[in-house]
Amino acid sequence: MPAAISENLARVKLRLAEAAIKSGRSLEDIRLVVVSKTMPESKVSEAIQAGAVILGESKVQEARQKIARIGRRKAQWHFIGHLQQNKVKYLFDLFDLIHSVDSVKLAEAIHQAALSRQAAMPVLVQVNISGEASKFGVPRESLQKTLVCLSKFANLRVQGLMTIPPYHPDPEKSRPYFAQLRELRDRMAKENIDHISLKELSMGMSSDFAVAIEEGATLARVGTAIFGERPAFAK
Ligand SMILES: *Cc1c(COP(=O)(O)O)cnc(C)c1O
Repeated sequence: MPAAISENLARVKLRLAEAAIKSGRSLEDIRLVVVSKTMPESKVSEAIQAGAVILGESKVQEARQKIARIGRRKAQWHFIGHLQQNKVKYLFDLFDLIHSVDSVKLAEAIHQAALSRQAAMPVLVQVNISGEASKFGVPRESLQKTLVCLSKFANLRVQGLMTIPPYHPDPEKSRPYFAQLRELRDRMAKENIDHISLKELSMGMSSDFAVAIEEGATLARVGTAIFGERPAFAK
């Protein structure tokens, strides 16, 4: 029998704490996003019972159904997937943070939708730190220009950066990418762009979250290590 979600969650939290201690960081500065994409309501509820505080979903339609059943306030819900502009209108009733703003156009659409609701939406800017053609995200070379554009969208609350490095089974291969995102963040923070906070660094998944925390992650997005393997068609 596979290990229970509660045991897996406890183990991930322990490793997270170990990584924090190893790198001299405070646990208060690190939040675990339990990635529940593709998982049925029953397993998500089990994770909440076991102490999951933030859940991560990557498809708006799937999240709408799940959140309607489980309840918006049973946990915080973060959106971590690629976002299409025609789905922006749904975000406000569902999510507390969008990790994956990857273009000025998308940011503007979120700002406009927020403005019309007299709301504000907290977001992170996804950076394509590896420069892979297949990856979403703002190229590092245009991040400063992008942040300056986003600073004019008053109903957008930029809180930091997110990245997904190339997958490799050896987490040490991810370390340079995580370090690069942190260095890029530090450099951008010195520019003091109005209304832009860069406090959050969303990085690290099941295979490499401990390394990401050593390199400064404030949000680690972990699915498989908690729920087990996802169905192959839903990676
Ligand atoms: C699926 C997903 C994760 C979680 O990946 P695991 O390897 O299952 O931990 C993290 N971040 C994003 C953006 C994802 O899409």
